Amino acid sequence: MNLNKNYSNLQDSYLFSEVSRKVREFKEKNPSLDVVSLGIGDVTLPLCPVVTQAMHDAVTEMGNADTFKGYGDYEGYDFLRNAVCGYYAGKGVTLGGDEVFIGDGAKSDIGNILDIFSSDNTVLIPDPVYPVYVDTNIMAGRSVAYMSGNAENGFLPLPDNSVKADIIYLCSPNNPTGAVYSKEQLKSWVDYALENKAVILFDSAYEAFVQDKELPTSIFQIDGAKKCAIEFCSLSKTAGFTGTRCGYTIVPNELVHDGQPLGRLWFRRQSTKFNGVSYVVQKGAEAVFTRDGLAQTMDSIKYYQENAAIIARALSKLGIWYTGGHNAPYIWLKCPDGMPSWEFFDLLLEKANVVGTPGSGFGANGEGFFRLTAFGNKENVIEAMRRLEEMRFGT
Ligand code: PLP
Repeated sequence: MNLNKNYSNLQDSYLFSEVSRKVREFKEKNPSLDVVSLGIGDVTLPLCPVVTQAMHDAVTEMGNADTFKGYGDYEGYDFLRNAVCGYYAGKGVTLGGDEVFIGDGAKSDIGNILDIFSSDNTVLIPDPVYPVYVDTNIMAGRSVAYMSGNAENGFLPLPDNSVKADIIYLCSPNNPTGAVYSKEQLKSWVDYALENKAVILFDSAYEAFVQDKELPTSIFQIDGAKKCAIEFCSLSKTAGFTGTRCGYTIVPNELVHDGQPLGRLWFRRQSTKFNGVSYVVQKGAEAVFTRDGLAQTMDSIKYYQENAAIIARALSKLGIWYTGGHNAPYIWLKCPDGMPSWEFFDLLLEKANVVGTPGSGFGANGEGFFRLTAFGNKENVIEAMRRLEEMRFGT
């Protein structure tokens, strides 16, 4: 028996465990201090009322012999696939229900999609970014090429025609930087992918946070994207489903390579290794896309957006460079006085008792940067910013 040796090529994912360890030790040493966390990437507000009502009703159905459901369709119930199509129609994107695949969240689908691609593909991944893209490719034995996000390009790397890639990951709005590609920038990626016969794996997990009307919330708002892109999204950040689990992956029918529709391969993969999302959860997800559901979930998003605006205002006042925050729940700041990420983490924890996430944990280019999140309680955000302002960086 041999183990998958690729696992030994993974870097220890110590970012969040190291953050927790440092915070725990600090609290043990200073039990009377009130530590405020702006480090968490998870939502904190509860599911909205129309969602919980729909789930209650679905539970009742499951307890009744006449309405009980066993295995559902691998690709999700039609009612939810059609609801997702309706949501995309609102973005000006026409989809057929057969192009929508319901899953238990974006993370699983982003990892599992690799099953349908050859292991000798060249993969291009932005740095810094959500670490799952890199790790899932390393597990599968693929070599990864990086494209640099930095302050100069606004953490939005664009295609380099001298680089040949087969699979390209794009995350917009971006975790951790909060940066969002414009339509023109995405068009350049679509053109590159079409020219190179590459596929774009587009992660739109934070699309619901985009406020600027001219910014794209789906890659399918770009001409030609249906021939070269797969989109992953979920209700985790849109509607607080991080613990409930429901997402969707769009594989357009026009996406065909070597005569093979990729949607057919993805269905083959899913029907072999996945038995669907529970009926109760899919009923809750369907409710998100109703008029009331969209309004109620938007209330929660507005709450987070207000937190982000409070953080952004404080950083602007302090003269600290940052990106994100307006169209994303993440604010990505340059550590003051040229500090490395972990040094700033320690300083912030010790002097202001505020927790954030060191940027270096999201890739080499994240060194010297720091992520704050808006997924907290408003009073805590205000208090954290008050303490930050008291620290008087660079003076
Ligand atoms: N994509 C990005 C960029 C994320 O930051 C996250 C979670 O934080 C996910 C996907 C995973 O989301 P889900 O809960 O849908 O698996």
